[in-house]
Amino acid sequence: MAAEAARTVAQTGNMADQVSALTDLARLNGDLRERVRLLEAVMENFPGGISLFDDNLQMVLCNQQQMVLLEYPEELMANGYPSMEELFRFNALRGEYGSGDIETHVRRRMELARKMEPHCYDRTRPNGTILEVRGMPIEGGGFVTTYLDVTEQRRNQQLVAHMAHHDPLTDLPNRMLFNDRLTTAVAQVKRRGLMAVHYIDLDKFKPINDNFGHKAGDEMLIGVAERIRKAVRENDTVARLGGDEFAIVQTGINQRKDAVVLANRILTLFEKPFELSETSIKVGVSIGIALGPDDGSSSDDLLMKADNALYRSKSSGRNRFCFFEE
Ligand code: GH3
Ligand code: MG
Repeated sequence: MAAEAARTVAQTGNMADQVSALTDLARLNGDLRERVRLLEAVMENFPGGISLFDDNLQMVLCNQQQMVLLEYPEELMANGYPSMEELFRFNALRGEYGSGDIETHVRRRMELARKMEPHCYDRTRPNGTILEVRGMPIEGGGFVTTYLDVTEQRRNQQLVAHMAHHDPLTDLPNRMLFNDRLTTAVAQVKRRGLMAVHYIDLDKFKPINDNFGHKAGDEMLIGVAERIRKAVRENDTVARLGGDEFAIVQTGINQRKDAVVLANRILTLFEKPFELSETSIKVGVSIGIALGPDDGSSSDDLLMKADNALYRSKSSGRNRFCFFEE
């Protein structure tokens, strides 16, 4: 429209028409300036980084927040806005995309960018900041990219997810996560192999609480968790099922003897007293063991049978392990 008004000014011989066309041109210029002012205000007030690219993936606008979030140095913009390819190369060179060949990073990212497809992903910067990156094609050509700092949000989400599956006192997996791991292990041994569930309960723990206080009891439970965790292999799961009850999913074993070895290792670890802040106390453990798939084909069944075996350990004198027996 501005070009049309300018043409009218140039082509018209009539003075009045020329004045009118010049007035139109001035008004259009004013409108345009106002629109740019508003666009810049939107960009600067956007709660994150935002940048616009034209059809050729040349950057045409970038707000201050993006410069800050992505730590763009002023020199990067010294000769005007860079192209997307230049930005990718700059980022690859400063290690933003991890290790690997610089030009491979650039090429892969350019291939994706040229598709002009909407996208959304999290990018963890080398400084630990997590950015949610969104890209959206603009109708009629061009691309808009936004960057939101979601570090805090993602950490909170991870924390909530962790809390839902772990015991707050010992930080061991809770019953819910234990059941998941047990179900997976039971399914795996249906095809081949053997696994064991060890149901563990402290002996005479109530008197410890009563005599030394709940705080000492809690300290002891933390120490117990540490010892059991030390006894198992990396792929095994140790959980606190509640109170003074713990359990282990022992996987990757071939024979009953492997479960005996672990149970004995735990009993040995409990021979030493626990050094608590105010006192030192010894506690024994009783263990009940059920083997999958021999003793049961479902997680509930196996856990029940391990509990049953635990009962036999308790009733036959404590501080020992028993296997489930029909
Ligand atoms: P047994 O040998 O028969 O297992 O005797 P016990 O005294 O250990 O009895 P039981 O296992 O039934 O009791 C568990 C006790 O654990 C009951 C309660 O006082 C204590 N307890 C449960 N949860 C907690 C906890 O979070 N902190 C502390 N300090 N004690 C707990
Ligand atoms: Mg107990």
